[in-house]
Amino acid sequence: MARSSHRSPPVKTLRLRTADLSLRAKLQMATVLAISLATLLVVSALLVNEWSLNRQSLLDKLAAQAHLIVGSTRSAVANGDPDAATEVLRKLEVCPEILSAELNRNGHSVLARFVRAVRPKSGFLAQMPVIRRILESTVQWREPVTDDGAIVGELVLTASRQGFYPMLERYVVVSAVSFGIALALASLLSRQLIGMVIYPLVRLTDLLRAVARRKDYSLRAPVGALDEVGLLAKGVNEMLAQIQIRETDLKSELQERRRAEERLDMLAYYDTVTGLPNRHFFNERLAHAINRAGPFGETTALMFIDLDNFKIINDTLGHHLGDMLLNGVGERLARALRSKDFIFRVGGDEFAVILEDVRNREHVASVAEKLISVFITPFRLEDHDIFISASIGVSLAPQDATEPTSLLRNADTAMYHAKEKGKNTYQLFETSMKGQAANRLNLENSLRRALEKHEFVVHYQPQVDMITRRICGAEALVRWQHPERGMVGPGEFIPIAEETGLIVPLGEWVLRTACAQVAQWEDEGLGSLAIAVNLAGRQFQDDDLVEKVIQVVWETGLDAQLLELELTESTLMDNSRSNMRKLTLLRAAGIRFSIDDFGTGYSSMNYLKRFPISKLKIDQTFVDGLPDNQEDAGITTAIIALAQSLRLQVVAEGVETREQWQFLQEKGCDTIQGYLVSRPLPADQFRGLLIDGWSEE
Ligand code: C2E
Ligand code: MG
Ligand code: MG
Repeated sequence: MARSSHRSPPVKTLRLRTADLSLRAKLQMATVLAISLATLLVVSALLVNEWSLNRQSLLDKLAAQAHLIVGSTRSAVANGDPDAATEVLRKLEVCPEILSAELNRNGHSVLARFVRAVRPKSGFLAQMPVIRRILESTVQWREPVTDDGAIVGELVLTASRQGFYPMLERYVVVSAVSFGIALALASLLSRQLIGMVIYPLVRLTDLLRAVARRKDYSLRAPVGALDEVGLLAKGVNEMLAQIQIRETDLKSELQERRRAEERLDMLAYYDTVTGLPNRHFFNERLAHAINRAGPFGETTALMFIDLDNFKIINDTLGHHLGDMLLNGVGERLARALRSKDFIFRVGGDEFAVILEDVRNREHVASVAEKLISVFITPFRLEDHDIFISASIGVSLAPQDATEPTSLLRNADTAMYHAKEKGKNTYQLFETSMKGQAANRLNLENSLRRALEKHEFVVHYQPQVDMITRRICGAEALVRWQHPERGMVGPGEFIPIAEETGLIVPLGEWVLRTACAQVAQWEDEGLGSLAIAVNLAGRQFQDDDLVEKVIQVVWETGLDAQLLELELTESTLMDNSRSNMRKLTLLRAAGIRFSIDDFGTGYSSMNYLKRFPISKLKIDQTFVDGLPDNQEDAGITTAIIALAQSLRLQVVAEGVETREQWQFLQEKGCDTIQGYLVSRPLPADQFRGLLIDGWSEE
């Protein structure tokens, strides 16, 4: 086994070598082989011919000799005279080709015999066994001896073929010389011819090698004559052209694919609106940041940023401007951060910031303040000056949580606290907030049930005319008569109702209840009382708002002139056609509008000119510091002056002291609302107040 496997490789190598020979060598080999074969064939044919000619001439000679000998030996045979017969046969000595001669008498033994002593031939050919065997072969001739017509004996002549040898030798030498010359001439000629045939092929091979090496499919083979090689070159060129096209296609396809992959990558990890990394990226980064910080005892801060009232902007100004605003917000936030901080857009109007290696809580607070401050100046988008703020919740790892989900939940909880604190602020997470977050979820669920179970009530807070000092109106303020918790204030559930959309049915219920109540008091002869009802931004977006309000007014039988809807500045910042239309239609129906919490929202006062507003309500935060606080006094004075110049009524909210009253009266405020007059009261108590009348004492 081992031996046979040992032997096979050389065979293989040999075969490979022959196959691997160049075309030129192969063609030359073929030429030599063909010429050799042809020469061999020609020489063989000539030799065969010579051979048969030689045999024939030998036979002819033997026949002639036999005839002569028979004529001379006839009587000797007939008489049985061996001496005479031998004498005749000896004459054959002069015939070198005859080897032996025998004369036989009928029925008797040999009468006479001649045998030539033969010396074997010398010469290079004679050394070859085949040639020697040919030379040693003999030709025989038998001639009957007759006497008077009767056969009396027989002559047997045997001739050698040695005479053929010189001719054979000559033949071989001549053939060898002519073969050599033919071969030399042929290889000289074939070299030229093969060169001519092979050259285009060699060039073609070189070209293909160059193409393979340089991967340059723009190379082309020169096409000479349109013979097979020319056609081959043409075919190769066409093939190269095809490959070139394919390659170009393939390249552009690959480029396209690479671009698509990059796009997918972008989409997978980046937000298309702001170009910031997205939630997917955020999740990975947050986990990485926490893991990285852990072993070094570093603190990582997660800031969860939620834009305040973004939904209103998006709904009112359209998604196009909404996206532009998000983009602008993303840019400002990113600019406010250090390059090593990370910012992401993690949801509709939600951004997240990861701060690594935070020094202390003060450090985080200063970053949060910086981020809040980017919202001070409005965003100029197309023709709009958009004021927006953000609420930020901050959670620290590992202090508040050690894994991403909890850290995010805590930041979210803190963010809700920031919203509850009045938005446009930040809040660091505290452990006590955990329970509050759960409360919030409970609240959301029970709020839905409360509406079905009629657990809401409307309280009325009187508004007093500063000139007549009489109750001229009331603001309807909703409360939740919670079965377990008792009376719950609107501050606790209105924001959630707004977020969940529950404010729409709830607000409609408040409006209907308040309108029906005031209409009833009027029916009871308690006088015409203006009723102010708060309208949430969400309600204002309701396409059916106009119909709903007019229907309520009509159904409750209230004089539309008595209804006043309180809007906030954020609601009015959208001066879209549809908003304008709603306000105009309701105003045309007699309903008036006031701006609640004036001065706390958007500082663009464009809307005061455009919308049919009747009243401004100075927010209680400005009234609070009156009359001593210079700023509050200044702002209040300015608002009253502004209202007067625009021929708008002014209501001061949250008036608790006589000093405040005094100040406001001096400045020309029209109406006041506040604990100084009364807290918001249930309907029956307010009825009592109407009956008894309000007095300053
Ligand atoms: P608001 O519309 O600015 O209402 C005035 C708030 O100031 C009321 O709080 C009222 O009780 C309080 N207030 C009045 N006078 C004084 C005062 O002298 N001192 C102090 N400290 N506070 C005073 P309330 O009832 O808790 O309502 C809070 C807010 O909830 C309202 O602010 C309003 O924005 C919202 N709200 C109340 N009812 C409704 C409603 O039916 N629909 C909507 N959309 N919002 C409502
Ligand atoms: Mg109000
Ligand atoms: Mg108010």
